[in-house]
Amino acid sequence: MKIIINQVPAEGLYLEEEIESTQLDLATALINFRSPLKLAARINRITNALTIDLNINGVIFADCSRCLREFEWGLNKNVRLSYSLDSSDVFIDLKPSIREEIILDYPIKPLCSLNCKGLCVKCGKNKNEGGCHCALT
Ligand SMILES: [Zn+2]
Ligand SMILES: [Zn+2]
Repeated sequence: MKIIINQVPAEGLYLEEEIESTQLDLATALINFRSPLKLAARINRITNALTIDLNINGVIFADCSRCLREFEWGLNKNVRLSYSLDSSDVFIDLKPSIREEIILDYPIKPLCSLNCKGLCVKCGKNKNEGGCHCALT
């Protein structure tokens, strides 16, 4: 999302845009995206500054660090970004800030649920799907 500074009217501007996660380089070994992220921005300009109230919405897929099964969670984040403007600035590119805001919320160890029981260390069965018999022997 790019904002061309002289196109922001005095009363502000509302922009919506979809952005591919690949454009933001968001995938990691554990986290990926299958649909574009939705951005909605309310932009206000005050002399030498831009204030942007941004909503980031999307679906994140991650591999559970305990049971390895993939799960998804909804990303819905509101952030306020501020930029001070230089007279030479023609546009502001929000991409780096958007990327940072999303990655800040990545869990270090993604879990499909707080109660995830993980895999049996002996037979590898997913213990969320019922018990195995290893504990009995
Ligand atoms: Zn799990
Ligand atoms: Zn087992």
